[in-house]
Amino acid sequence: MTNLPKSYLTHLECPECGRRFDADQVQTYCPDCRSPLMARYDLARLRGDATREQFGQRPRGMWRWAELLPVRDPRYRLTLGEGDTPLLPLARTGAALGMDALFVKDEALNPTGSFKARGLCAAVSRALELGVREFVIPTAGNAGGALAAYAGRAGAPAHIYMPADTPRANQIEVQAAGADLHLVNGLINDAAREAGAEAAARGWFDVSTFKEPYRCEGKKTMGLELAEAFGWRLPDVILYPTGGGTGLVGMWKAFAELEALGWIGSQRPRMVSVQADGCAPIVRAFQQGAPRAEAWQNAHTLASGLRVPAVFADRQVLQALRESNGTALAVSDEDITAAQSELARGEGIFAAPEGAATLAGLHQLRQSGWIAAHETVVLFNTGSGLKYI
Ligand SMILES: *Cc1c(COP(=O)(O)O)cnc(C)c1O
Ligand SMILES: [Zn+2]
Repeated sequence: MTNLPKSYLTHLECPECGRRFDADQVQTYCPDCRSPLMARYDLARLRGDATREQFGQRPRGMWRWAELLPVRDPRYRLTLGEGDTPLLPLARTGAALGMDALFVKDEALNPTGSFKARGLCAAVSRALELGVREFVIPTAGNAGGALAAYAGRAGAPAHIYMPADTPRANQIEVQAAGADLHLVNGLINDAAREAGAEAAARGWFDVSTFKEPYRCEGKKTMGLELAEAFGWRLPDVILYPTGGGTGLVGMWKAFAELEALGWIGSQRPRMVSVQADGCAPIVRAFQQGAPRAEAWQNAHTLASGLRVPAVFADRQVLQALRESNGTALAVSDEDITAAQSELARGEGIFAAPEGAATLAGLHQLRQSGWIAAHETVVLFNTGSGLKYI
């Protein structure tokens, strides 16, 4: 296998203090700012070396964006078929809402039935390349399933900490993959405390949301695919069901990289965070005009992926929402259930409750007039409804 594309990764950077970190060492987050680190690439050089069209001629999947991903040696690029999910028009739902360009990016078609596959694929691949041998993760459910699958694929041990009331499918898939499952009484932040203590004591690598730099890079590919699918233009609005915010921050980063490459212009979508009204720390901070989101007390929602009370990348999420002239809104579990049924009956898409939440959010934004009839709008269905039965 010659001529496989090379990564243009140069270094890692703290977006808060600007400090640079060596990307060829195992890194976590900025210790001074407690901020995630962002991967940086030699985009000026890539701009001269490649055209945007050549990426479309490669075999399907996330790794066709290898220049913009962190893994240097192609042998470490694990794959289970992640990425290149369909962008489906929602004609019936759009018509009912008086819209002419409504789409869903259906991430349920990823391995392990959720978009967590993209992030964990990138993070596990890069960690193995840097010498990591054993993994640990606290999870609301799907991230644990995805880590178990990619670690299993690589033959590496993985330890998964999840709330005891996480959907059964998540527990079963973790055990099926041979990973070590720990059920925790409490929420994901309680699981994170236990996982963090074990990681420190045993030397396991913690792939928690934004506590290492590369899950964000995997999720960034959703933004690259969208730009390509719309002919190197971007939609007017993106609705994203926000837990830790990896995909939202990742897509926002993707758009900046694409503009630096000269592949898109300066136009950006308005980014919308949809959360559940039982756990809406980003919505509250956005409405207050605050730069940071305080932890949410007594978090509860049937959309387990949105049950994330403390958001580690809160600054980056809020910044993307504000820079894009976007917004944040909360929806009820009843509205999520109704939207889930609307998508399944009207479109044949059995969405995860998190994905259905974006349709519930769209109803609100059409009613208020925040989204106009002619605008191009993309909902993110982040997982399969089958994982919640
Ligand atoms: C994790 C998860 C989310 C939230 O994703 P973030 O990028 O962490 O905000 C949404 N939907 C599903 C199905 C998830 O598993
Ligand atoms: Zn810093």
